[in-house]
Amino acid sequence: MSTNICTNCLLTDKTPGISFNTNGVCNYCESYEKMQVQGEKKLIDFLNLYRGKKGKYDCMVGISGGRDSTYTLWKLVNDYKLKVLAIHYDNPFTSEQAKRNMEKTAEILGIDIIKWSFPEGEHLNATKKAMKVWSHHPSSMMIPIVCAHCKNWWPTIFKHARENEVSLIVIGSNPLETASFKKAGLGGARNYHKLSNIPNVITKSFKELMANPRYLTNVSWPLVLSMYLGASHSSPYLKWRYKDMTVIRLFDYIKWNESEVESTITNHLAWKKSPEVASSWRFDCRLDYVRRRMYESTVGVTELRDLLSKMIREGMITREKALERLKVEDHIPLSVIENVLSMIEMKVPDIKLKNL
Ligand SMILES: [Zn+2]
Repeated sequence: MSTNICTNCLLTDKTPGISFNTNGVCNYCESYEKMQVQGEKKLIDFLNLYRGKKGKYDCMVGISGGRDSTYTLWKLVNDYKLKVLAIHYDNPFTSEQAKRNMEKTAEILGIDIIKWSFPEGEHLNATKKAMKVWSHHPSSMMIPIVCAHCKNWWPTIFKHARENEVSLIVIGSNPLETASFKKAGLGGARNYHKLSNIPNVITKSFKELMANPRYLTNVSWPLVLSMYLGASHSSPYLKWRYKDMTVIRLFDYIKWNESEVESTITNHLAWKKSPEVASSWRFDCRLDYVRRRMYESTVGVTELRDLLSKMIREGMITREKALERLKVEDHIPLSVIENVLSMIEMKVPDIKLKNL
């Protein structure tokens, strides 16, 4: 079976909603709008509004031990001299290297970190149940359900921010990492800043649910509902519930530059990627190793393929180099996947992935 790949990026013909023009260029490339930033001066002016206002801290930053959030913390503390309170959701799948990175960063920068988690076993049990249900009818659109706990952290972040008299939260997610194929698969917009067609998304989600009704009895619906209501800090529900909170992304002001991010944190914060995988991206949560294979198995596209495709469109990397990196960095050793699955008492054949 041959797979067609866009002649400009790395997206394959299996990508949801994809089509190609006569030159073999995909519609994701054709409708792509390049990243825009507001500039560092605007950022500093904005941060100054929150500097030294009240309480012990000027702002809060969510961290994972991964590269972008670590860099965000470095910029705020070192470059902009803000008093930062870091917060981390202690996910049971957090990699040891991510934990070491957070400890080292806190020590070097001299900052406080709040670590919070759900009651013992709750997250692991929910993931196990969701994964088992998913494996009965593998579908890319239902993969987010296995991560429901991690999509529920905004209300907790806001609660801790209020308790510490902080009203500004800065996040380090980069605009290129929102996988466009996932939104497109649910009938949403391909571009990050374009609004999705909500009725379309609801209809598609409902069809997905009906195709595998085991979700109805095996998934915590209050959790899933709150995931949909609060997965994004800019959801209407959270905006209404936490009017006093302002959330900004560092990379809306300064351009995300992968090598600048990695060299800064490596040199100044002794940051390291996890030794168990080749990629320096998304090793902070080890469940992501399995998710990569779940996406690959169901839609033939991984989030790394999507990210590298966007980097090509941005002119940050050549297509040849991106292909080379994809081969190396998207490879997760089978022993690592087996190890992650053993945490939820599952084995590789249990999740019925193709190509494994
Ligand atoms: Zn393309």
